[in-house]
Amino acid sequence: MPSQVLRSHNSQSLDQALRAAQKACEQDGSKFTELREQVLRIIWQAGKPIGAYEIIAELEQLSGRTKIGPPTVYRTLEFLQRLELIHRVHSLNAFLARNQTRAGSMPALFICRKCKQANEVVNSVFQQAVNLSANEMKFQVDEQMLEVLGLCQHCRRSDEAIKTSQTSFRNS
Ligand SMILES: [Zn+2]
Repeated sequence: MPSQVLRSHNSQSLDQALRAAQKACEQDGSKFTELREQVLRIIWQAGKPIGAYEIIAELEQLSGRTKIGPPTVYRTLEFLQRLELIHRVHSLNAFLARNQTRAGSMPALFICRKCKQANEVVNSVFQQAVNLSANEMKFQVDEQMLEVLGLCQHCRRSDEAIKTSQTSFRNS
């Protein structure tokens, strides 16, 4: 089963993401409040994992208010996460917009340590492996995530370029 790399920016527009969120809220019997929309918008526009305090700073800038309580924002983040609209990226303690074309399946996040870009990869093998192990252990899964840390192709190239230039400097 080939894996599919999903980049929320390539495969989905902000409008589509907001419409999907509106629909998810309706199905949940919840309101897509202005705050929920603003938070989702900020995370989506960041294009890569963004921390809660950066989100709060942007919200304050947008609303012109100076004090937005972190608990309010954390509740909003938990809500968006529960509706599978965003990912919590545990290894970076940050949040990332979730691709809605494959909601419900377990994506893996491949995260670059250097530039902090995260790519969402969907491969049914991940889900099968978790299901198999959970069944063997009679384990009830509430939450599942796979975060893979390393260097993206772009950062690997620039790392190699630096190494090469250092080598040629030493050799000259
Ligand atoms: Zn990178």
